[in-house]
Amino acid sequence: MQKTALVTGGAGFIGSHLCERLLGEGFRVVAVDSLLTGSLENLASFKENPAFTFVERDVRDATEAEFASCKFDEIYNLACPASPVHYQADPLRTALTSIKGILLSLSLARRDGAKLLHASTSEIYGDPLQHPQKEEHWGNVNTIGIRSCYDEGKRMAETLLCDHIRTYGTDARMVRIFNTYGPRMHPQDGRVVSNFIVQALADADITIYGDGSQTRSFQFVSDLIEAMRKYMALGKDEVRAFFSARGFIAPVINTGNPDERTVKELAERTLALIPESKSKIVLKPLPGDDPKRRKPDISLAKTLLGWEPRVTLDEGLAKTVEYFKARKETSK
Ligand code: NAD
Ligand code: UDP
Repeated sequence: MQKTALVTGGAGFIGSHLCERLLGEGFRVVAVDSLLTGSLENLASFKENPAFTFVERDVRDATEAEFASCKFDEIYNLACPASPVHYQADPLRTALTSIKGILLSLSLARRDGAKLLHASTSEIYGDPLQHPQKEEHWGNVNTIGIRSCYDEGKRMAETLLCDHIRTYGTDARMVRIFNTYGPRMHPQDGRVVSNFIVQALADADITIYGDGSQTRSFQFVSDLIEAMRKYMALGKDEVRAFFSARGFIAPVINTGNPDERTVKELAERTLALIPESKSKIVLKPLPGDDPKRRKPDISLAKTLLGWEPRVTLDEGLAKTVEYFKARKETSK
C-alpha cells in the first residue's frame, strides 16, 4: 500500500530534496511550510505530481486536528530557518518554531504510530570541546548569545523528543546534521557556501568572516538524503536495540562529511572552480559565538546504516556552482 509522509519545512533547501526523493520512491508526500526561507520554486520539478500536496502553514500555529484527514507513516521535521542570518532576524520565532514544530510532529507520530525523523544539528555541540564531535558530547553552548535561539531551540527539541520516547514509546529518531550545501540553497541564504558562490559569480567581494582559520566539514545534500532514508528504513526494535546496547536513550546520529576545511580554503576552492571571476577575498568581522572547529565523527552512522558520504567537496561545489550559474542565466 502507498505510504504517506509528512515533511515540515518541505519547501526549504533540504526539505525539497527529501520530498523529491520520497515521491520518487512512491510515497504520497504532504509538505508543510510557511515559506519563510523556503520557496515554491524549490518544488517546481514535482509540484504537479498528484502524490504531492503543499500546505502553506506555520508550524507554530498548526494543530494535530488540522491533519485529521491524513494518516502518516513517516514524519520528517525540518521546519526551522537554518542560516544564522535568517534565524537571528527574529530569534523568538526561531526558538518557538523548533519547540512547536517538534511537539506537533511528535503528537502526530504518536497518533498515527508513525516513524519520526527530526532534523537536529551540529550546533547542539556549540563551540565544541571535543574534536571530532561524537554523539556523546554534551556540547559547549552559550544560553544567552546571538546563536542561542537556534542552538537552544534545537536542544530543547532533542529533549522533548527523548521525553516523548520515555513517556509514550514514540518511534522518534534524530540526525545531527553538519553543514550541508547544494542546489536549491537560496541565493540570499547567507550561509558560507552559497555566499561564496553567488559572490564569485557576481564578481563581488568574497566575504571571509574573521581570518578564515575556523573550520567546517561540508556535506553535499544527496549524501544527507541517503542517510535520512537509510535511517528511516530501519525498524523501531532494530533502532532501539542498537542504541540501548550503547547506553543511549536517544536514537541520535551525526550525519556529515568528515572532510574538514578552513573557511579560507573553501573560498579558494570556490574561486578555483570559477576561474573567470574577478572577485577578491576580503576579511569581515567574525560574528559572536562562531564555532572555531567542527567535524563529525560518523562512526555510529557507518555502523548503523552502512553509510558514508560519497560526494567530494570539489564535486559537490561544482554541482552547486552549475546550479547558481543556471539560475543566474534564467533570471536575466
Ligand atoms: P532552509 O531554511 O532552506 O529550510 C527550512 C524550511 O523551514 C524553509 O522552507 C522555511 O520556510 C521553513 N520554515 C521555517 N520556519 C517555519 C515555520 N515556523 N513553519 C513552517 N515552516 C517553517 O534550511 P535547510 O538547510 O533546508 O534546513 C532544513 C532543516 O535542517 C532545518 O531544521 C535545519 O535546522 C536543519 N539543519 C540544516 C543544516 C544545513 O547545513 N543545511 C545543518 C543542520 C541542521
Ligand atoms: N562565513 C564567512 N563568510 C560568509 C558566511 C559565513 O566567512 O559570507 C563563515 C562563518 O563565520 C562561519 C562559517 O563560515 O565560520 C560557516 O558559516 P555558515 O553561516 O555557513 O554556518 P554555521 O556553521 O556558522 O552555522
